[in-house]
Parts: sequence; C-alpha cells; structure tokens
Amino acid sequence: MARYHIETYGCTSNRGESRHIEQALRDGGHHPADGPEDADVAILNTCTVVEKTERNMLTRAKELEAETADLIITGCMALAQGDEFREAGVDADVLHWDEVPQAAMNGECPTVTPDTDPVLDGTVGILPIARGCMSNCSYCITKFATGRIDSPPVEDNVRKARALVHAGAKEIRITGQDTGVYGWDTGDRKLPELLDRICDIEGDFRVRVGMANPGGIHGIQEELVDVFARNDKLYNFIHLPVQSGSDDVLEDMRRQHRVDKFVDIVETFDERLDYWTLSTDFIVGFPTETDEDHAMSMALMKEVRPEKINVTRFSKRPGTDAADMKGLGGTLKKERSKEMSSAKMDIVADAYEQMVGSVQEVLVVEEGTGDSVKCRDSAYRQIIVQNASEHGLEPGDFAEVEVTSHQTVYAFATPV
Ligand code: SF4
Repeated sequence: MARYHIETYGCTSNRGESRHIEQALRDGGHHPADGPEDADVAILNTCTVVEKTERNMLTRAKELEAETADLIITGCMALAQGDEFREAGVDADVLHWDEVPQAAMNGECPTVTPDTDPVLDGTVGILPIARGCMSNCSYCITKFATGRIDSPPVEDNVRKARALVHAGAKEIRITGQDTGVYGWDTGDRKLPELLDRICDIEGDFRVRVGMANPGGIHGIQEELVDVFARNDKLYNFIHLPVQSGSDDVLEDMRRQHRVDKFVDIVETFDERLDYWTLSTDFIVGFPTETDEDHAMSMALMKEVRPEKINVTRFSKRPGTDAADMKGLGGTLKKERSKEMSSAKMDIVADAYEQMVGSVQEVLVVEEGTGDSVKCRDSAYRQIIVQNASEHGLEPGDFAEVEVTSHQTVYAFATPV
C-alpha cells in the first residue's frame, strides 16, 4: 500500500485521466499523502500546450524528484516529449496514463477485497473475488493487510457478477490479490470454474481476469486456457507478474514460481490461442539483483515479448524483509530501469504495429479525449476511435473496426 501524491496540469481531459489514475490507486488500496514529501510515489500529469508550460513542467519535475521517493511522469508532455525529461536528467518513470496505477503499486498486488459490494463504474463492473494470497513476498506490504487467501463460494461470486450484468455492466473486471489461487483454501483452485459460470450468464458483456501470479496458475494452465478458448466473453488477456528473469532473485523475493513455470504457462497459451495478450511486471533493482540477474530479466522479456509490460523500480516498503536488505544505488537502478523501459517500448510498439490493417470486434469501454472513445478488442488491446459521435459510438456499444495506425500502447481504428 503506497501513499501517493498527484499533480495535474492542463485541460479537463488531463484532469479526467488523473481521476482515473486516482480511482485505480484507491481501488488498489493506496492512499493520498499530505504532500510530495510524505508520498512513496509522486505522479506528475503534464501538459505541453505552449513552450512556457513545457519549461514549467521540467522545473516542477525536478522539484518533485528532489522532494519525493519515486516520481512517475505522465500526460501529454510525457507522451510527446518524454525524452526531454530524460535529457534534463530527471530520474523518473515516463509512462502512458494507463500504465501509471500498476507502476505505482511497486510490484505488489492490489488490495481490493470482496468485503465491499461490487462497484459499477460507467460500463465497467469491478468484482473482487477473494481476499488474500498464498504467498509471502519479501517486498510486499499488502500481505500484512490481506493475509492468506480466503475464498467465498463460486456461487456467491456468480451472483455478484449477475447483479453487475443486470445493473448494466458491459465489462466485468475480476480482481483480487491473486486471482489464480482463488479456491485453493477450500480444496481446489476454482478460477476456471468461476470463469465458465460467469460467462454462462445471459447478456452481451466481456470479462477481464485480473492479476494472477504464475505460481497460482501453474498446474491449472491447461484447464484455464480451455476456458479462454471456449468463451468469447472472456478477453484473451492474462496478467502474470513474473517480476524477474533470475531464479536467484525470485527466491530472494520469495516468489512461488521460477522462470520455467512462467514460460510454461506462456507456451501453453501460445499453443492454444491465436490472438492473446500477455501482461507482465518486472521489478528492477531488487537489492540482491546482480548485473547478470538484470541481463536475465532483459533476455526473458525479449524472449516472451509480452504485449503489456509494467517496469517498476524497486523501492522499500516499511516493515518488509526486503526493506532490511542493503539496497542498490539509485544510479544503477535508474540505468537498469531505463534500459528495460526502452526495450519494453520497442516490444509493445511492435505488437500494436502488427495490428495495423486488421479488423477487430471491440467493446467501447469509456469516453476518450475530445470526440473519441476508448475500446478494447478481444485481447484487451486498447483501441481509440476518433469522431465517435459521427459513428454513433458510445460506452457500452460493440463495433467492428479496422486498425489504421498506432501509438506505442494503443491503436487507432475506424468502424467498418
Ligand atoms: S502475492 Fe506476493 S505481492 Fe501479492 S499480495 Fe501476496 S505476498 Fe503480496
């Protein structure tokens, strides 16, 4: 659980992006700090409307870098002129808006629990299916709050999902600290059964499965991929945070998987699904990470080529075992993070490049900037359709679109 500080500059649309980021952070159990100096992470949502604004953004970034533990820069200037921050020597992660919540979580799982009622936010219904996990990661503070996995019966979650669909949800996001271990405390892992049952609910909607650690999925990956293959309502998307390409580091992190298990799952999905998205996370600069370990993480990323990658620079969370380890220097962490982030951009951009010219069925999930809408295709890739009112598209609609171009982490398309 992190304390965050967020600063937003520019237009109403940018403020809307900040609201989304904040909502995701609060959903993940994070709290606003009193100011940047009290925050674990500061988020600067930038504007680049005129040159004077750019200069102000650079100045503010440098101030925040000095005041806070970790800095994330996002927004228009980050996307259009991210290099300027790097060239000015600002030590920060420069990210797209959508990548910010995950990066701010420092490799930990979200802290949402099923104690609260499911939340319907526009067309999106959030369904926390269980509290807790089966792990005890050495860097994690979330575990102190959430404890060991405690799974409600499948029927309870199906009932909540049905209520969300009846209330108008078009996208159900299944979430929890570790969705892959759902049911393990009661005998068997039950994620495949739960997904089948939710997809059986009558209605036109999509289902996205939230973070599932490789240790929880390994062993049920065959059963799970069958569920994906037979249910069109399920986005072909899985978030498997590997965190490192080195087994030694994974051991020090006390992760419950090793690299081979992660690769096994990816290969199973590759064999069965033609079009899917692998999302994964890497923590860079864990205290015991050597140059060789870092090289292994780079090699793993380039080998499996995930379509969505979150790179987080390690930072200590109070009370965790990793906080007592002797940390690496800031410069080294910064260099490794820069190297990994740059490779990540190439890999992700390549995935979107390959989509250009394809026709995709999408769900319009929310309004975008100006007269645009944000959509998700069958593999949960983000697609923007401009001039939405002209095409009569609004959140909740399904449409067939042709991808015409792309930016690094999303594509542009027009209805066909
Ligand atoms: S899986 Fe690890 S990081 Fe996630 S909540 Fe459990 S202990 Fe924390």
